[in-house]
Amino acid sequence: MNDAQLLRYARHILLDEVGIEGQQRLLEARVLIVGAGGLGSPAASYLAASGVGHIILADDDEVELSNLQRQLLHTTARLGWPKAESGRHMLAEINPEVQVRAEVARLDAARLEQIVPAVDLVLDCTDNFATRHALNRACVAHRKPLVSGAAIRYAGQVSVYDLRSDASPCYHCLFPENEGAREISCATTGVLAPLVGIIGSTQAAEAIKVLTGVGEPLVGRLLCLDALSMRWHEIAYQRDPGCAVCGHR
Ligand SMILES: [Zn+2]
Repeated sequence: MNDAQLLRYARHILLDEVGIEGQQRLLEARVLIVGAGGLGSPAASYLAASGVGHIILADDDEVELSNLQRQLLHTTARLGWPKAESGRHMLAEINPEVQVRAEVARLDAARLEQIVPAVDLVLDCTDNFATRHALNRACVAHRKPLVSGAAIRYAGQVSVYDLRSDASPCYHCLFPENEGAREISCATTGVLAPLVGIIGSTQAAEAIKVLTGVGEPLVGRLLCLDALSMRWHEIAYQRDPGCAVCGHR
């Protein structure tokens, strides 16, 4: 690290558990962030500001006026831009040292096969079950940690699937596919703007903890927030030995 980096990251380096070594791990880390919307905005911003060296930001949408209430990667001037490009632009302003690649695409299984093996961690900041399950399958196959968040109306949740470990449950253990799950979206039900900030920031915190090996990540625990009462609660869960995705491990 050069003098400017020692200064830029001083408040992390001052943390005993992180230190120079932990900050160096962040600088060398490669992270895939899927979704450059409400959750991806704070998650990507904090990871870029924290010096995560390589970020792939994936989203197939364009910036719309109704996004600007909560998706702080984007600005009025960038309406109509691909969100991944708009996000890359913002992250470069936050921290020009970070290499950011924009993937203007909905990542299918084939593309995930190309990207996931080369990253250290994946953040699920998406809004649909199909992509969530595709990300989980890729992370199980390549044993990558997956930090997953969701937020709608006043309710948010976060959990970490550390698939490097045999003991860790996967997303499918907790939310099995094809159970007639009804897809609900912020477009039809609304979402409190700072809720996505809280949940996306929590995802960034968990990602930094996993990348640096600091603390105890949310593995086997689903952390839920009800923003109406501003109460958090935690649901413990375990691996499903019959899980169709990770049961063979
Ligand atoms: Zn599983």
